[in-house]
Amino acid sequence: MTAQIIDGKALAQTIAAQCREQARALDRAPGLAVIIVGDNPASAVYVRNKQRACEEAGFYSQKIALPDSISEAELLAKVRALGEDSRIDGILVQLPLPPHISGARVTNAILPHKDVDGFHPQNIGALALGKDEGLAPCTPAGCIRLLESADVAVSGANAVIVGRSNIVGKPLALMMINRGATVTVCNSKTRDLAAVCGGADILVAAVGRAGLITGDMVKPGATVIDVGINRLPDGKKITGDVDFESAAKIAGHITPVPGGVGPMTIAMLLANTLRAAQAARAASAAA
Ligand code: NDP
Repeated sequence: MTAQIIDGKALAQTIAAQCREQARALDRAPGLAVIIVGDNPASAVYVRNKQRACEEAGFYSQKIALPDSISEAELLAKVRALGEDSRIDGILVQLPLPPHISGARVTNAILPHKDVDGFHPQNIGALALGKDEGLAPCTPAGCIRLLESADVAVSGANAVIVGRSNIVGKPLALMMINRGATVTVCNSKTRDLAAVCGGADILVAAVGRAGLITGDMVKPGATVIDVGINRLPDGKKITGDVDFESAAKIAGHITPVPGGVGPMTIAMLLANTLRAAQAARAASAAA
């Protein structure tokens, strides 16, 4: 069997076009503020891509570049000021932050209705309660949209997520539970990873280890979602956590890297920013 490729790039373009269309219906463009601290080259690329996507969608975007030396108190003050700024509907603080700054305190300082990364405890709590998912983290939300686009049933599926981080594995597990999957979340201590993965109808790899998941770990016909981004030794090309060549021979559907989850993460950031903007306009109309 040769797997069908789920084209994240094409889906992301469709979602971005829908966001652009819906943004036009608002009295004012949705506004996103992106804070970047220090000069991590990977973070700089991510921020540039997010800003470019915003501009293409006709959103207002503001980049706030701060030095590594900034104190936590100064950064918190900046985040709170953006919370008061009516041009800004969404605030994103690019991770990682320097070690002297608490990522948790910074996330908590973002108003939940402007938390377009979906990491605030209130938004994660909404996922856990499972009623209204609110602003969900972008990468897991992107994985769900990829599954929907390929008509892969989540309800009733055995889903295995490799990786338990707060930004991918855990929130994705909650979203899949909410949709009726039977979910197993693996980590570095999981015994016999191959056997656990082999039971998955939907297998998600979110680890950060190139080629960890090989074809022999994939159940025939399963859907494989590769979240991993690993830089090859040439420093330019990226590859996923899944050994694409062997897995694609066994899987029913598979996402490529690049061109799978990556572009969807940015598309879901646009969708969250639009949603935050729509909610803000509705709230001010009701006031
Ligand atoms: P983290 O490093 O925070 O988490 C990695 C997880 O993988 C941990 O839970 C870790 O377990 C687990 N793990 C490590 N080794 C193994 C192993 N041998 N077997 C099973 N589990 C293992 O990473 P992130 O969640 O932030 O990111 C994961 C990957 O996804 C990275 O490549 C990252 O670049 C990529 N990513 C891609 C995005 C996109 O837009 N496409 C967005 C975000 C991330 P333990 O907890 O026990 O240490």
